[in-house]
Amino acid sequence: MTENNSQHVHRVRQSIHPFITVEPGVRLSFDYEPKRELKLMVAWAKELQAFLRGHTEYPRAIVTVNHDLHDMCSGCGGPWEVMVDGDDRTTILCASCGQPVSETAEARAD
Ligand SMILES: [Zn+2]
Repeated sequence: MTENNSQHVHRVRQSIHPFITVEPGVRLSFDYEPKRELKLMVAWAKELQAFLRGHTEYPRAIVTVNHDLHDMCSGCGGPWEVMVDGDDRTTILCASCGQPVSETAEARAD
């Protein structure tokens, strides 16, 4: 399955689906009851929306940028999964495109 002139591939770690969360600067509930906590969060979010429309006095909020990490093949862009070549039983291949995996392949943060 592996040919001498085949192109080696490696895992690429790419940031996907970035999003921003905003948390209240104060604890909304101390009783840890999920439905009550959700209700309080929805109410707080509505209050924050009102603030963004022009109110100037509001508790300090923390804004955090979050993202998910997704490992993919550098050659085909498929999900990073590898398999052993069925013919020589030693070569590691990309499970999506079948290209040999570079021996020095490591995740790269892009
Ligand atoms: Zn691939």
